[in-house]
Amino acid sequence: MTGQSSRIPQPRANIGAIPAYVPGKPPVAREGLTTYKLSSNENPYPPLPGVVEAVSEVVSRMNRYPDMGNVDLFAALATRLDVPVEDLTLATGSVGLIYQVLQAFCDPADEVVHAWRSFEAYPIAVTAAAATSVRVPVTATGEHDLEAMLAAITERTKVVMVCTPNNPTGPAVSHSALVAFLDRVPSHVLVVVDEAYVEFVRMDDAVDGIALYRTYPNVVLTRTFSKAYGLANFRVGYAVAQEPTATALRAVSLPFGVSGVAQAAAIASLDAEAELLERVEELVAERARVVAGLSEVGWDVPDAQGNFVWFELGERTTAFAEAADAAGIVVRPFAGEGVRASIGEVEANDRLIAVAAAFDR
Ligand SMILES: *Cc1c(COP(=O)(O)O)cnc(C)c1O
Repeated sequence: MTGQSSRIPQPRANIGAIPAYVPGKPPVAREGLTTYKLSSNENPYPPLPGVVEAVSEVVSRMNRYPDMGNVDLFAALATRLDVPVEDLTLATGSVGLIYQVLQAFCDPADEVVHAWRSFEAYPIAVTAAAATSVRVPVTATGEHDLEAMLAAITERTKVVMVCTPNNPTGPAVSHSALVAFLDRVPSHVLVVVDEAYVEFVRMDDAVDGIALYRTYPNVVLTRTFSKAYGLANFRVGYAVAQEPTATALRAVSLPFGVSGVAQAAAIASLDAEAELLERVEELVAERARVVAGLSEVGWDVPDAQGNFVWFELGERTTAFAEAADAAGIVVRPFAGEGVRASIGEVEANDRLIAVAAAFDR
């Protein structure tokens, strides 16, 4: 024995209860077949030359810390969104922001209400914060049940997460439904509106997140450069909230969390926004084509407002994922529930439709 006793250090009790994050699998190489990854809702387009150039300039200075104040990126976002810099927070992806929200606002045993199935990082982050995840089932069409979420709010509720569009099921909440919801949520409960896919939404009465943040002091919008802007690898996202909340979120920021390459890539992406949003438009058109193609072969998927579609498959989930694998596309199965498939390259989307058409439910 080397120490005083044989006891080893014990993490907090909640740590052992943190669910594992299941990342989308990379594609398996198959002879004579190009394989595609449709398992992580990534942007299939390669980076724009201007963005690569901006990043390369920072690469040559990797021995220096990034700008901890993120001054240029904050300024670019403030201009782009027409909000004061004081109302913005930056973090390593919007997942980083969710951790900061929980760290800043939740005491142990506080409750966080969110839809389920929804973004798998929520129960992970909530459990890591020693808070309690209160899961409210989505409706049969994969929508948030806002009425049931209101009913789930208790004395212990500190935060409500609204994921719109909802990952992995697809539907988005409407602006008027969210306003009616916010009017009934107690004003001391923070409502995080996770808009990771906001650029892909095409619906009447779409959520105007900035208008909500201006009206409701308890709203936090979270957005990301990972999806529409194609910067998933660099980990950068931002939150918009009124100043007292934003100040609390910045207080728990990891010092130097957002790397210099991420800051440079995000600024260059805002400069090239028109071109990037044209690509989003192409992906939205592909989404419409996939949804129509699936409908033709008898699959009516929930309203797809993100860059992905959802197949409710229950016990047939694994079989569907295997059929996709065999066709050279990797999808994201949620065992016993369904499969999420990202909108990717045209060829990959064609194969997805073909797999669904041939699949014996
Ligand atoms: C992808 C995703 C995020 C963002 O992830 P980051 O890469 O951490 O910015 C946030 N919320 C949802 C619902 C997502 O699907």
